[in-house]
Amino acid sequence: MSRVVVLGGGESGIGSAVLAKVKGFDVFLSDSGTIAPKYVDELKKWEIPFEMGGHSEDRILDAGEIIKSPGIPSTAPLVQKAIEKGIHIISEIEFAGRYDSAKKICITGSNGKTTTTSLIYYLLQQAGLNVGLGGNIGKSYAYQVATEHFDTYVLELSSFQLDNMYDFKADIAIITNITPDHLDRYDHNMENYVKAKFRITRNMDKDDCFIFCSDDEITINHLDKIIIKAKELPFSQKKQVNPGAYLDVDKIVVNVPEREECDVFLKDLALGGRHNIYNSMAAAIAAKVMNLSNEDIRRGLGTFRNIEHRMEKVMTIRDVLYVNDSKATNVDAAWYALECQTKPIVWIVGGKDKGNDYAPLLELAREKVKAIVCLGVDNKKIHDSFKDVVPTIVDTSSAEEAVRTCASLASPGDVVLLSPCCASFDLFKSYEDRGEQFKDAVRKL
Ligand code: ADP
Repeated sequence: MSRVVVLGGGESGIGSAVLAKVKGFDVFLSDSGTIAPKYVDELKKWEIPFEMGGHSEDRILDAGEIIKSPGIPSTAPLVQKAIEKGIHIISEIEFAGRYDSAKKICITGSNGKTTTTSLIYYLLQQAGLNVGLGGNIGKSYAYQVATEHFDTYVLELSSFQLDNMYDFKADIAIITNITPDHLDRYDHNMENYVKAKFRITRNMDKDDCFIFCSDDEITINHLDKIIIKAKELPFSQKKQVNPGAYLDVDKIVVNVPEREECDVFLKDLALGGRHNIYNSMAAAIAAKVMNLSNEDIRRGLGTFRNIEHRMEKVMTIRDVLYVNDSKATNVDAAWYALECQTKPIVWIVGGKDKGNDYAPLLELAREKVKAIVCLGVDNKKIHDSFKDVVPTIVDTSSAEEAVRTCASLASPGDVVLLSPCCASFDLFKSYEDRGEQFKDAVRKL
């Protein structure tokens, strides 16, 4: 029996270990940190040997194959040793894909992955398909392959999950857009990051579909350099594309070969904002490829409820609307959040800066932002970047203080927008924690 070692005891590692066990491998899981109690219980339930708080090198370097969790960089010393020894290192998605004959719709990109993935899942589920949701969302793909049966999967794949994929093939691949993010994991080389995203199109052939944003220069420039066998289905808000999806004044028009044309009025979309027109277009193309009726697509796009922490309307207090966009952890995401506001904005921004260049936001800030409330440990760069365009900039160091400050700066008819442009780890556990604390503070006002 071949030995499989799983590195990392998080959601994806546990799923891989369970699948390896179900498929009859001799499996061992190792994590250098602590494994959460719910995952320890799962490993015990499946009688999978494991260790935590350190790696037993001998046991690991004896593996026939290693399944590496996406959080562990390939530069980690142990991973380097395994590579030197010639051990094949794969990702959870690669491993699970070997045992899954379902149709796979895979979504990657810098922004909009979770929204687009959830939207497609919702459309297919509402239309009555037997569909699973996985990747970066909810239960891991591998765990579901081990324990459930679906005809179709909708999978959100970060670029880290796409690393170490070799034979996996998507039937429908989507790249929402590509803007600089996580460059630290790609030697600060944009080309490496773009290539990692395009791994989603690996192994696709002429019966498969590749959906992408043709307004996105980085995507288009890279497409010019490579050959993709899959059918190309672009979406655009700037020009008419056919096949694909485009904006025709007040509606989205979707054309997919061998399918009836579909149009959806913008006023009927459940998700507001220009970025969500893109996300809705990508989802509608995928749904059309999956042969959903126009009625199902219109109904789904009209009734979807947005997920937490993404342009989430919290409540209106004294005629000031509070919006939680805590998931906007980079400049591009915040650009769309500012762009779609029609009211004067009191903007909460800041946190752990990933090397941000705020220049693309200056014009929008000048036009729409009346005050900035910084929420981070080091706010100097925000002050320096916005001091000439926003009249009031205040420092705060907790969600509660930030919300109270915003309430005192806002007038009736304004919007208070948490769209921080930055990661949350300086003051919060995660972007979810930041969003929750923001919402709690708003409710206490
Ligand atoms: P991801 O899963 O890629 O991080 P999400 O769907 O969770 O993306 O959205 C993250 C943030 O990015 C949201 O706060 C939203 O404001 C912004 N966003 C969503 N879709 C897009 C898009 N297509 N283009 C740019 N920004 C977007």
